[in-house]
Amino acid sequence: MKNIIIFGAPGSGKGTYSDEIVKRYNMGHISTGDVLRAEIKGGTELGKTAKSYIDQGQLLPDSLMIDILAKTYDAMPTGQGVIFDGFPRTIAQAEALKQMLAERKHDMGVMVELIVDEETLLARLLNRAIEQGRADDNEETIKKRFAVYHAQTEPLAEWFEKEGMRHTFTWKGDKDVMLGEIFAYLDTLK
Ligand code: ATP
Ligand code: MG
Repeated sequence: MKNIIIFGAPGSGKGTYSDEIVKRYNMGHISTGDVLRAEIKGGTELGKTAKSYIDQGQLLPDSLMIDILAKTYDAMPTGQGVIFDGFPRTIAQAEALKQMLAERKHDMGVMVELIVDEETLLARLLNRAIEQGRADDNEETIKKRFAVYHAQTEPLAEWFEKEGMRHTFTWKGDKDVMLGEIFAYLDTLK
């Protein structure tokens, strides 16, 4: 499979759909949120830095994230394609990813955008707070993450559009329906 960038607001299901895509196409998976949460759990210096941003609902600085992404990518097998989940989140990160992959003679692949209404997003994140106890899944921080998403990440959709990579899928109330639509598209790429 080609590389896939999965893109969407907090709670849009990037992690959930990534897991399904990884199983079906046997690819690698980089979730920058998971990488950072593992660092926090391990009590590393990076984890301490990450926590100070994540708890505020803010993005980590681009230079730091780009470095983390490249190290993670170079440490994993890439032959079957990789799904990027949670990266890029800014135009600078997208430009850096493009350059990083070009340097390695790897293709950017395609972008899968998940469009979900904000009422559903909020309900999912509040539910996740109960189920997983993520520190940033409280109503105040969620609101900040939505604002950061609209200001810094959403404009990236246009960047992908210009690159001819953007493929949009809209939530209509059923996970299997959405997953079926995503698979139908990805199957055409194999
Ligand atoms: P989802 O609910 O769809 O899994 P999310 O947006 O709620 O997504 P993560 O992707 O797990 O959550 O990210 C959690 C936090 O980690 C972000 O709010 C941000 O602080 C930090 N983070 C993760 N990826 C990046 C990135 N590429 N650039 C900057 N900060 C990042
Ligand atoms: Mg996630």
